[in-house]
Amino acid sequence: MSPLRAFAKANLESLYRVFTVPEAPDSTLGRIDQAISGDVRGFLQEHVVALERDLVEIEKDFSLSRIPEDPTFVSDYTEFMKEKLVAQSVHTAAPGFIGHMTSAIPYFMLPLARVMIALNQNLVKVETSKAFTPMERQVLAMLHRLVYEGTDSFYDRWIHDSEHALGAFCSGGTVANITALWAARNRLCGPSGDFKGIAQEGLLKALKHLNCEGLAVLVSRRGHYSLGKAADLLGIGRENLVGVDIDENNRINMPRLRERCSELQGEGIRILSLVGIGGTTETGNVDPLDALADLAGELGCHFHVDAAWGGPTLFSATHRHLLKGIERADSVTLDAHKQLYVPMGAGMVVFKDPETLSSIEHHAAYILRKGSKDLGSHTLEGSRPGMAMLVHAGLAIIGRKGYELLMDQGIERARLFADMVEAREDFELVTEPELNILTYRYNPAWLQQAMAAADTETQRQGNEILDQINQHIQKRQREDGKTFVSRTRLAPGRYRGEIITVFRAVLANPLTTGEILESVLDEQCQIAGNSAITAMLDDLRLLLSCAA
Ligand SMILES: *Cc1c(COP(=O)(O)O)cnc(C)c1O
Repeated sequence: MSPLRAFAKANLESLYRVFTVPEAPDSTLGRIDQAISGDVRGFLQEHVVALERDLVEIEKDFSLSRIPEDPTFVSDYTEFMKEKLVAQSVHTAAPGFIGHMTSAIPYFMLPLARVMIALNQNLVKVETSKAFTPMERQVLAMLHRLVYEGTDSFYDRWIHDSEHALGAFCSGGTVANITALWAARNRLCGPSGDFKGIAQEGLLKALKHLNCEGLAVLVSRRGHYSLGKAADLLGIGRENLVGVDIDENNRINMPRLRERCSELQGEGIRILSLVGIGGTTETGNVDPLDALADLAGELGCHFHVDAAWGGPTLFSATHRHLLKGIERADSVTLDAHKQLYVPMGAGMVVFKDPETLSSIEHHAAYILRKGSKDLGSHTLEGSRPGMAMLVHAGLAIIGRKGYELLMDQGIERARLFADMVEAREDFELVTEPELNILTYRYNPAWLQQAMAAADTETQRQGNEILDQINQHIQKRQREDGKTFVSRTRLAPGRYRGEIITVFRAVLANPLTTGEILESVLDEQCQIAGNSAITAMLDDLRLLLSCAA
């Protein structure tokens, strides 16, 4: 054998090994593997570095744009990954990290996810997924039933019907919202008479056919930004995603919504859909879904509910009523990677009427043949992983009652945290939790009193300094890496619509204890004692005593 061929053969053999031979248990990867299967939390606690490193520094580890010419030893690569990637990741599962919608996942998700990846099924068509297709259809039916509470015979009729789908499984809430509005658009602009439908002829001809100037989607100002992407993609235009004013509880202002609808109609714009929010991303409030359903009925338009965050509240007998009216929605978005505690990358949209999704149906000769049970004919995405398996596992292993407990505890924990915030002199609760999200800010009692007595201009200036203080605390807390809340900007009614910076806490991690919550506030008070902040507080004292 020539030296060159020997080289090539050896490389080929090592390539085959990559696909077939598992790592020896004493190799680095083998050890990580064991650590991860045994005690993920321990592994991560040991390896995720808490102290924040500057992103610009981290970027230097990922700056080569040339694809490596030669293969690398798995062991070398693993060391790199451990030091540069794992160490610099965010510890989303840490119970003191109550700032985002991403938290802990149950331990069984990990080994099951490996099975899913090893099987590497593609849900776009039955040929590459087999049992995964009926399983995904079952998951969609279960979530459909959670929302719409149909009868046994309804689900027997539709669950595996090859021409229809009760919903679409996708990568998250964004694609779910896009899919919902896509179906709504294609239904409103469906084929009729000579018009072959918007899917065939495009938006311009659809508007001509409908004899209107444009299509509009209305949602409260708290609407998720994914709806803007949908308006853009669907050709409606972001200006026609109309953000309606909210009331003091962050819910859509119904009289204002009615006004906006008639204004739009006066301009020759057709209302495509009203969108209600089942748990806003920033404050966790729920729109008046029944009232929205009534109005959508009057207008004859689609009614979508974005319950990406709050949907699983339906598991709770105690709190289910908060989402009353959701069962009247034409479509509902649910994110499994949020409150179903499934790993990142799983969302769903379910449709009340099994016919609705047919409006986006797509067939291709080599794949997705008509009459086949292929799910790909009713989804925006093409090739898709078997994530539904992890939702299926969660629903089976945790069960309705388990999720009920998780939801109830999350809401109770948020209430508890709100009480803690209120009990402390140094904080001001900005939005009460309706589900499990609340906002608050650092604003000591003496300052609250002085601010209340001050004139509008002084209040405005005071809030500006307070914004800086709260930003500083939040940033510093994140950098120290022990506990974490996020921050956002809101315009609460009590400050006459002035926009202020607030901390946002999301109480979704079941491992977050009362003690940990106290420590989040302790840490914030401690940071507030540092010189940068005491200087700003002195500025505030000066400002307010001058004004008084
Ligand atoms: C998170 C969220 C979305 C978007 O979901 P992704 O999974 O991030 O795409 C949409 N709407 C609401 C209300 C959300 O909370």
